[in-house]
Amino acid sequence: MEKICVAVRVRPPISPENPSATFWKVEDNRISLHKLHGSPISALSYAFDHVFDENCSNSEVYELLTKDIIHAAVDGFNGTAFAYGQTSSGKTFTMNGSSSDPGIIHRAVNDLFQKINTISDREFLIRVSYMEIYNEEINDLFTVENQKLQIHESLERGIFVAGLREEIVNTAEQVMKLLESGEVNRHFGETNMNVRSSRSHTIFRVVIESKGKDTGSSDDYSSTDAIRVSVLNLVDLAGSERIAKTGAGGVRLKEGKYINKSLMALGTVINKLSDGAKQRAHIPYRDSKLTRILQPALGGNAKTSIICTVAPEEIHTEETKGTLLFASRAKRITNCAQVNEILTDAALLKRQKLEIEELRRKLQGSHAEVLEQEILKLRNDMLKYELEREKLEMELEEERRSHKERDQYFRDQLMMIENLSSLVSDGDGSSSQDSMESPIEECNDKGDGFKTPCFKAAPTAYVAKRSNYTQLPDFSPLPDSFSNVADEDTWFKINKGYITNLDSLQTTAARKVQSFPPEDATPFQNYLNKNYKKELQNLERQLELVTEEKNELQRKLAEHIQLNDKLKGEMSKLKKEALLAWEMPQRLSEFVASLKDIYDEVLSKMQCSTSTFDGKPSTAILLSGTSKIGSVLFSTFETYISNTIDGRRSSSGNNSLIQECNEALSERLEATITSLILTEVAGTNDKQALCSCNSKVAALSRYHLSIIVLFLLMILGYLVSFFRILIF
Ligand code: ADP
Ligand code: MG
Repeated sequence: MEKICVAVRVRPPISPENPSATFWKVEDNRISLHKLHGSPISALSYAFDHVFDENCSNSEVYELLTKDIIHAAVDGFNGTAFAYGQTSSGKTFTMNGSSSDPGIIHRAVNDLFQKINTISDREFLIRVSYMEIYNEEINDLFTVENQKLQIHESLERGIFVAGLREEIVNTAEQVMKLLESGEVNRHFGETNMNVRSSRSHTIFRVVIESKGKDTGSSDDYSSTDAIRVSVLNLVDLAGSERIAKTGAGGVRLKEGKYINKSLMALGTVINKLSDGAKQRAHIPYRDSKLTRILQPALGGNAKTSIICTVAPEEIHTEETKGTLLFASRAKRITNCAQVNEILTDAALLKRQKLEIEELRRKLQGSHAEVLEQEILKLRNDMLKYELEREKLEMELEEERRSHKERDQYFRDQLMMIENLSSLVSDGDGSSSQDSMESPIEECNDKGDGFKTPCFKAAPTAYVAKRSNYTQLPDFSPLPDSFSNVADEDTWFKINKGYITNLDSLQTTAARKVQSFPPEDATPFQNYLNKNYKKELQNLERQLELVTEEKNELQRKLAEHIQLNDKLKGEMSKLKKEALLAWEMPQRLSEFVASLKDIYDEVLSKMQCSTSTFDGKPSTAILLSGTSKIGSVLFSTFETYISNTIDGRRSSSGNNSLIQECNEALSERLEATITSLILTEVAGTNDKQALCSCNSKVAALSRYHLSIIVLFLLMILGYLVSFFRILIF
């Protein structure tokens, strides 16, 4: 952050003036209004960065006020230097100068190229443009056709005038020539205030682009691929005087209005920027093209210097006061200039590559760190597990030892029990040991903390009965809880009134029991061997049982398999039979049909032969009856078979059908036989009367016919019986 550099320059009086009452006195960096006789006028004294009196040259102004900005522009900072003041106060003189005393622009251009030439590690591209703002229109001073240009803004170029001709220049001379050609296009007014009174604001703009020369190092992106672009504005403003003073009308009035508008906007912007408390307020840069173009120079990213020119004449005192006030305000403005660097694609790429490398390095570093931490953690864990394992091993060892000791102790106890048993049996030979038996024989004076009641010392003392001494106790030889042995009432009964406070009894906590070496381990070994043998025998018996069971199961399995095969055979047989039975009705139907055909054929032949050889009524009756019986039977068969095939088998229906059939058949047979007998009786009477030579043949035929009829009836009867069997 830096303040705008503000200076005041007092031009020399143009013409010798009549003695005036006041004058502007310059002392160091202060300018103050004095009365004729030298006394200062209070409140009209101003201090600035620099105050140049009328004897100052452009060279001094440039050196003190602008040179730094030009050099900074070469380094990539935006820079602006502009002259503000009333008409004829010396703005143009300051900016352009004269042939004997070149102005700031000229010096700046020369200095710029000189400076560039001293920089060997960078290459520069200088472009210059020259424009004027006239009646709020931007015109290109290099090309007359470029009028009314528009202001644009972009990220890369910032605020720029579109379509403005930019000339690439390599030397100061080129620039001077261009400036001269541009001056021709300036609008010069014909006011009465100044022969070359400009009515326009002129902006000479230099764009300085620089890029580090390629040194072959690919790492340093900033020195090769980053491009610095700075804009240098050297502005000669139009006069800040009020329009009324111009005494002009018409075109001049219009010009003045616009000029005033731009300057008013500039004043407003300066005012707002100078007011610290309102710095964050809206700054109306867009109110005029001048302020818009100078936006970076005013409170923005630029190094700015303002030279306020004043006329020393008393007649311009008020204007001078206004200029000084403007300068005072401008002095308070703070800018924030920084190097403008544009990254090309290559620069971006390189920068990103470097960033990626950096990140990768960091990542690798962090990864290694993580791995290292992981390894450390694993080591710690391993150590911990090792310790735990050792601890467990120790505990296991301890447990084994304790187990051995317990074994030893149990063996001893067993031995003591045996001894005790022998003592008891030797003592009274009673069976008291069955009911009251203690695993602990005597008072323990061995200092191991056992406080077992001693029944020898106190005969009335109680003893506890262990439930089963054949099973070795798990841990402690003493009952862990007396409630597992007997409750208080039981104790009372057992001990015949001896009451003890169960709570006062001290039970031994689970602890290692000091073992004492066995004097004789044989009984226990015998006991163990016996147990093992028993267990072995038991197991062998179990094994035998299991083997037997297995064999039994195998035998049963074989039987089942055999039975299964048998059942399978029977099942297939039944299936075949079922198939046969299924096909039977169809076959019967065919058989009955063929039988019926045969039957009909036989009957027709018999009827034929009877009519030829016999012609007796009995034969006819017999045949007719037989035919009817046969038709009844066949129709019954056919009905039954068709019902069976259609699956409409009804046992009751079929039974009744067969019953009806039988009845009808019996009736029909009886009727036929009766009529046949009657006919034969009548025939016998007639035979005696009528005797012919053919009687023997006829008798023979009747005999044969009767046999056939009976045969047919037998077949039919057989069929009926067969069907009845089939149905049921
Ligand atoms: P402005 O541009 O402000 O209207 P000019 O620069 O044209 O005023 O100056 C008006 C006149 O004063 C010119 O003739 C110029 O040569 C002269 N002048 C201005 N300042 C100086 C100066 N410092 N030394 C000598 N002559 C000057
Ligand atoms: Mg001028």
